[in-house]
Amino acid sequence: MKSGRHFLQIPGPTNTPDRIQRAMHRAVIDHRGPKFAELGRSILEDLKAVFKTQNQVVIYPASGTGAWEAALVNVLSPGDKVLMYETGQFATLWKNMAQKLGFDPVFMQGNWRTGANAEAIEAQLTADTDHKIKAVCVVHNDTATGITSDIAAVRAAIDTAGHPALLIADTISSLGSIDFQTDAWGVDVVVAGSQKGLMLPPGLSFNTISPKAWAACEAGGDRRSYWDWRDMAAPNEQGFFPYTPATTLLYGLREALDMLAEEGLQAVFDRHARHAGATRKAVDAWGLNILASNPAERSNSLTAVLMPDEKGANALRAEILDSYDMSLGTGLNKVEDRVFRIGHLGDFNDLMLMGTLCGVEMGLMRAKVDFQRGGAQAAMEYLAGA
Ligand SMILES: *Cc1c(COP(=O)(O)O)cnc(C)c1O
Repeated sequence: MKSGRHFLQIPGPTNTPDRIQRAMHRAVIDHRGPKFAELGRSILEDLKAVFKTQNQVVIYPASGTGAWEAALVNVLSPGDKVLMYETGQFATLWKNMAQKLGFDPVFMQGNWRTGANAEAIEAQLTADTDHKIKAVCVVHNDTATGITSDIAAVRAAIDTAGHPALLIADTISSLGSIDFQTDAWGVDVVVAGSQKGLMLPPGLSFNTISPKAWAACEAGGDRRSYWDWRDMAAPNEQGFFPYTPATTLLYGLREALDMLAEEGLQAVFDRHARHAGATRKAVDAWGLNILASNPAERSNSLTAVLMPDEKGANALRAEILDSYDMSLGTGLNKVEDRVFRIGHLGDFNDLMLMGTLCGVEMGLMRAKVDFQRGGAQAAMEYLAGA
């Protein structure tokens, strides 16, 4: 047993604020009763502001992976081609899912250090003259690599190619931390989850559905039951769900939406940008490299840091957990043991970030990593505006 608070600095699940914990500490109510209807209706309406959309939002009692599947099976028919871009492990897992479901993903190769290349996507779509590709799937913020892709540029690529493919984007680790504009960017289907920027425990996930995506859903789609958007529409209008919702998590979501509205979405984004800026200052001062090689694509919700000689990240993370009771994100798949990831999203402030960066710096010392001291100092000066 360690004293004090554990530092949960993985890039999701994030720290759940006390306010949300308290909001969830309530009895479950009848999910077909009038009180629930009020809750359901208010949440479904207020979520639209967070997604910056007029489109319908649906909620699943499932982790983000469930909403990935829902996005695919509602608009794609068996064997349909879908263009996906390798930005890291999350894009890879989504591609694997598409394959398992019997779709035909065209996986555009990336190097895990740069985001989705809109020009390359445009070229693929232009070459697809008989419009075999039915959707383009991009992860807005790949949590494995800390890379944010330009979704508006992907939309422009689809339009320039004059291609009718749907645009589907995963905003699981960017919603409520990095600006995401569903309608302005013309995103047909959005995939999101509860346990990252929304500050909730894991267990809820979301889709938004454009009129064009609805049409694809009505006209085709794969076999589906649990994920079927069509079953959501009528009950959602009353604030209800076709099956038992995760009532407790919805209490928490109501509180999270209030918290985001009170702070103001733009202020939330600015806060994340500032904490990401301070973290990058620290990494620079340590003499280490950030995995995302293009500064414009560096994530504001997490930073993936390359180890010197690209090894030893697991030992460093173990040292930091053992000595300072802080969890950092692990390197996944191609970057296993090569990177550690600092989550700086969700319910977070300057002193939590300083605690985090001091923990990393002390861990680097204890693990005898070849680095330069002074990263925490540099971040402190950045945050204090000195
Ligand atoms: C966390 C995450 C997922 C997976 O969500 P689960 O809730 O673990 O199922 C998918 N995509 C991105 C970008 C993520 O960050």
